[in-house]
Formats: sequence, C-alpha cells, structure tokens
Amino acid sequence: ESIPPPRPVFFEELELLGLNKFWDYPKVQEPLLWAIGRKYYYKGEPVAEAKGGNIFEPPKIVLTEKGQNLKLEPIDIKEVIEKNKEALFVLENEALDFIEHTYKVYKKKGYLFAMSYSGGKDSQVVLDLVTRVIPPDDLVVIFSDTTMEISYTYENVEKTKEEYMKRYLGLKFYVAKPPKPAIEFWKELGPPSIKQRWCCTVTKTAPFHKALKNILKENGNYDSLIKILVFEGVRSDESAIRSRYERIRRNIKHFYQINAEVIHNWSSTEVFLYLFLRKLNINKGYRFGLDRIGCSLCPFASSWNEHILYKIQKNMLKKFINVIYEYGKVLGLSNLDITTFITDEQWKKRAGGRGIDNNGTTLLFSFEGNNIKATLKKPKENILEWLKTVGDLHYKVESKNKIMGEIKVGNETLPFIINKKEENLKICINTGLNPVTKEMIKKILYKTTYCVHCGACAEECPTEALTINSSVKINTDLCIHCGNCLNFAEKGCLAAKSLTTYGGEKPMKRDRIATSKFQNFGLRRDWLIFFLQNLNDWFSKTNLGNRQIESLKTWLRESELLDKNNKPTAIAKLLSKIINDELLIWEIVWTNLYYNVNLIKWYLNTFDWGTSISGKDLVIKLVEDDSNAKEKTAKNAISSLFNLFDCSPIGYELKIGVIEKIGRERYVRKIGTDNIHSLAVAYSLYKSAEHIGRRDFTISELYSKKFKGGPYKLFGISRDRLERILRGLQEDKEQILKVDLVADLDNIRLRDDLSSLDIVKITEARLK
Ligand code: SF4
Ligand code: SF4
Repeated sequence: ESIPPPRPVFFEELELLGLNKFWDYPKVQEPLLWAIGRKYYYKGEPVAEAKGGNIFEPPKIVLTEKGQNLKLEPIDIKEVIEKNKEALFVLENEALDFIEHTYKVYKKKGYLFAMSYSGGKDSQVVLDLVTRVIPPDDLVVIFSDTTMEISYTYENVEKTKEEYMKRYLGLKFYVAKPPKPAIEFWKELGPPSIKQRWCCTVTKTAPFHKALKNILKENGNYDSLIKILVFEGVRSDESAIRSRYERIRRNIKHFYQINAEVIHNWSSTEVFLYLFLRKLNINKGYRFGLDRIGCSLCPFASSWNEHILYKIQKNMLKKFINVIYEYGKVLGLSNLDITTFITDEQWKKRAGGRGIDNNGTTLLFSFEGNNIKATLKKPKENILEWLKTVGDLHYKVESKNKIMGEIKVGNETLPFIINKKEENLKICINTGLNPVTKEMIKKILYKTTYCVHCGACAEECPTEALTINSSVKINTDLCIHCGNCLNFAEKGCLAAKSLTTYGGEKPMKRDRIATSKFQNFGLRRDWLIFFLQNLNDWFSKTNLGNRQIESLKTWLRESELLDKNNKPTAIAKLLSKIINDELLIWEIVWTNLYYNVNLIKWYLNTFDWGTSISGKDLVIKLVEDDSNAKEKTAKNAISSLFNLFDCSPIGYELKIGVIEKIGRERYVRKIGTDNIHSLAVAYSLYKSAEHIGRRDFTISELYSKKFKGGPYKLFGISRDRLERILRGLQEDKEQILKVDLVADLDNIRLRDDLSSLDIVKITEARLK
C-alpha cells in the first residue's frame, strides 16, 4: 500500500481523540502537527499513533517516547509555504495555463463552461484557479448537494458562494439536488454498498446533469447538441480507478460533455498548502480529522472517517444508521449482531436485495418459446408507458382488468395481453425473433416493477422523450427507440439492480410445495445411472413405462441434467464421464434438487438433522405449510420423496433420509453425513452464492437455519469436517476458495471468476 501524503492536524482533532489529556496546545487557526495515515508527527518525529476503533468506538491512542507530555506550538505556515514556494509556484502556474489553454481551445469549438463544486478541499482549489482565468459570464458553478452532506459543507458552500459572487460579478452559483432526499432512497433502494453503488448516480451525477440542462435551458443555450466542458477537482491519488483517468476526458455517459481535471496530479498536501497560501476557505470537517469530505455515510469511507463523523455529526449519521438497523432486522439479525454488522462494515458488502423490505414488490418471469410470461407483484409503474420505448404501441382496453395490444418493431408485430388482479399484473408478450427486443422487454419488466423515480435513466435520453417526476412519461413523438434508458444499468434500472439478487430472474415457479409431478416415483439409482450411461439414446433404449419415463424426465430436468427440450445439459455430459464416482454425482444432483424442487427445500428447511418423522406426520405438516395442497397431492409428494430416499444413495448412503419401518408406519430419519466429497462441498457453496447473490459467507452462517443451501443444510455435515474440507479447498491448486478460520474470523470467500458449472468442470477434469 502506498503511504498517504502528510495532512495538517488541527486542535479540534486532538480534542476529539482525547489528546488534550496528554498534550498542551493553543486552540488556534493554524495546524499544530502533521499526520501520515494514523501516525502523528511533530517537528519531524513520530509522537502518537491511533490504533483500532470503529464507527462507534474511538481508536486507542499510543504515545511514543517523544510524545509524552508534549507542549505543541502552531506550525509556522508562512515558513512551510516559503520552503515550498517554488514547487507551489510551478503547480499553480501549470494549472492556470492548463485552464487557459483548455478554455481557449474549447471556446473556439463552441463549448460552454461549468465547474463542479463540492465544498471539499479539492474543488475549493479548483474554484479558485478556474475563476481566476475564466470570465464570470462564461462560467456556471454547480454545487452538488447529495442531501447527505455534513453541516460544515453547507456552511462552507454558503460562505464561498457569497465571497465569490461579490468578487466576480456575474458569476452564477447553482445547486443540483436529487429528486427526493437521499434518506428516502436509502429506504427504498436499500443502503448503498460497494457493489450497489446507486448513490453516486442517483444523488450526484444524474442531478448534476439535470441541473446543467435546466440552467442551459433557462439561459436559452440548450439544444440536444450542446457541448459543455466541466472543470472538476478529481485528483489521481484519490483512488486507483481515478488514477487511470486522462486529465481531459469525455464523460463516458453524456457524449457532449467533457471533464477537465485541473489538479489531477496534486497531492493532498499540496492542496492544503495552496489553501493556506491563498487563504481559501477550509471545510471545518478537515479540522476534526476527516481525510475526505463527502456523504455522511458512504460504503467507501474508512472507519476512521466514520468515527469522526459519528462524533461531530451524530444526528445526521444516525438517520442512515437507522436504515442499516432496519435492514439488519429484516435479515433476521439481533440488535447486538446488527451493531457488529455495522462496526465490522459488513453492510458495505451487500450484493443483492435480500433483506430490503420492499413491501412485496417482485417480478417473476419465464420464457416460453418467443413469449415472456411475467407476474409483476405490486409494480410501481405503468407498463404501457415503458413499452412505448420498444416500438409503436397500440392497445385496447378490453375490460377493467384486461388489455390487449401489440408493438410494431421493424417488420415484426409483437402481440401482448395484460391481466390485472388487484395490485398485481400478469403479462404475456411475444418478443419476436430479435434478441435485442427480448432484452429490452426484460428490462422494461424490471423497470415497471421496481421504479422508485430516481430519475437516473431519464438523464440518458438523448431526445428528452422520457420524463420522470412522480410517474414515468414517454413522449412518443420524441422517442427514437434508442434503448439508452434501458441499457444504462444492469437490468435497465438502478432500483431493480439494488433490490433483486444478482441471479435476478427467478424462474416462475409456483410456490406450491406439494406436487404430483413425479407421479409417486423417486429418482432411482438405476434410472439415473442408465441415463448417464446412455446420454444420447436413453429415451429409445429404456424399457420404463410411460408414467415412469415422464417422472424420470421431470427429475432429470429438476436435477439440471436435461434441458427443457429434453437434451442432456452440460452438467449431465460432465457427470457422465465420472460415473465411477457415483456418490459425488448424487451429491451434485441433490444440490440442484434443493434449489429446484420446493418439496425438497421444504424437507431440508423444516426438519432438523437428527429427527425422525412418520410419513403420516409429513403429510399433515405438508398440508399445513402449503395451503393450496389437497391431502391426495401431499400424499403423492411424500411418496415420491420416500421413494427417492429408498431407491437412491441419497437415502441409504448419504443418510439424508433413511427410511425405517416401525410397526405398520414408515418413518424417515434425517441423519446426514460427513462423507461428502470436497468438490461437492465447493459446488454447494458456489450454488448458494449464485442464489443468494454474494460470494462471501461465514461458516457460522452456514449453520444457521435461515441460510439457503450450503453443505450443512443439504448434507448435515459437521463443522469440524467442513472446516477441514474448506482448508483443503483453499490449499487446492485451483484455490477454489479462501477461508479465514482463525479465532472468530470464520469467513469464506469464493472466487469471483468461478461458477458452479466451473466446479463441475474441475471435478470432471480431475476424476474422469
Ligand atoms: S432513451 Fe429516450 S429516445 Fe431512447 S428509448 Fe428511452 S425514451 Fe426513447
Ligand atoms: S426506472 Fe429509471 S427512474 Fe425508475 S428507478 Fe429505475 S433507473 Fe430510476
């Protein structure tokens, strides 16, 4: 890791950390010492270090020998500036030249000029530099108020605005704000996380863009070909991603916008020195020790910044922390666990929408040939509006609850039927032959279901056909069906991305548990082996009866061994080559069945390992849990489950259900086993990752009742044995996963570049 450049430390930070107990210092404007990272230096010597701590707990201060009973004198800033005069002079003049040159070149090309101001130190410097070169009439300054700013930022912005408007007559200051306060989006979209970084677009870039457009319109300068250059305070040492940016770069999203990074190569120390040199306003947050000024609670902020904010802006921060508490509660965590969830920064790792209370809004869809059949539960938007983006839409309202229509796209006509029932909507729509249209329709389903009117997609529309206020409106005279509003984000919508897991599409399966689809048969050992030995012609060779064949096909499809056209899948082909490792095949099949067969999921989720349940009790419980089930269907379902356990190693070898007869009653005993192949353990972990939408778990979590899948839920493996297997997988030459089992850090991290199918490929390559 690179060493951060030194930053000045003011008396406010020392008070906050309790250093006033050890040191004597005057409470002055000037800084008192320097810090590099979390180490404090006075007159070039290390004097103290802050260790540990988290958002709620202060770090521990360790004084060095030199740091005992210090008497601090303010840093002589004049002297420091004098010493660095030449370097600062070069930097300053280079930046002024850069602005002047950029201004001249782009002015000739017909560009307009704006400055993005945040109230932090970097944009403070850029504002100073830019206003010294660009005539005030040619510049607009836009402050992006994410509505998550700290109070010191608002203070600084107000003060700066007043000063600059006085100093440069004609200079215009504007504010860009999201359509609703950020806290509302936190509640609706779930807290932002490293993977769900909706916050930057929703609260910053989209409002900035919208404000810019409105300002230009107000001044009569706007047309869709307008070109604009925005000066920014981004610096290369801010983050690895930023350091790859060019100093002048086309804004990736908005083709007519160019961004210019004026102080791209300055270090943060140079920024501070320039602020001192020019006596510019310094956001007070820095005086308390913040190393970055930004949103109050940010998934990218360090716990150091969080703790300082917790001390100085508690009320502001608490609003956002409360949303994380609510999120933790829906996840089923206790208050104590939620506190750890926050202090360990676990909330920042949220990948999908699990745990976000969405009032039951969901989307289910499935493909049938060229049709998509979808159920939108409590959708937030009007699907007819969004369908206009695909092509020419015509429809007829047949009755209160039924709409029929079609969309013309090129030479194709795509018919659809919509049925409404209370708050829910069902649609069956033909997507035609063009895969692009199919993708567009899928995204429309997501947008219709989940839209929270953040306005981000509207900023992608090149013709202003799309407007989003309290509802979505498409002006069909302006829409050119470019798809920008659909393609700008995964699933076409930031809300859908944040609220669904990243397996995303749930296949439309009835929530029913009891089923007769296996016709009382289980997946039998001889059936599966025969299938794997005769992959391509099993159907013509088999001497099973019709009912048995139908049952077998259903089992094979649910085991992911046959596709919907009854062709063997990639997994089936791989497994057919390792037929000697039969138990491993059953372990993989069992894992797939868990995710595809509600009955199996129910059996594994409902009954604890070690219990024995009679067939009769299973039927009663099934009817109780599946309110739609008739007793007959429940009996059929339990028979096929018993038959599966009776006639396959899942029952008699893996002991997931051992069938015993006591008197006249048959019982199933859920015993479980430690005898699981390590690659089957890996498979079950990758499979759960794909279903729950994240790749890191704790082992303790795998042993909790709520966890969906994993080697304990599926096989009842003991923790000891599992830990040994996990260590083995970590040491495996492919490093299938990473584990951290020391002390209480029982984390498992799966590789981002492997899927469950890859695990089967690895298995086949090793065992065939
Ligand atoms: S971005 Fe605008 S023009 Fe393009 S499809 Fe969407 S609404 Fe239509
Ligand atoms: S559809 Fe557009 S406005 Fe609505 S939530 Fe998604 S991205 Fe935001």
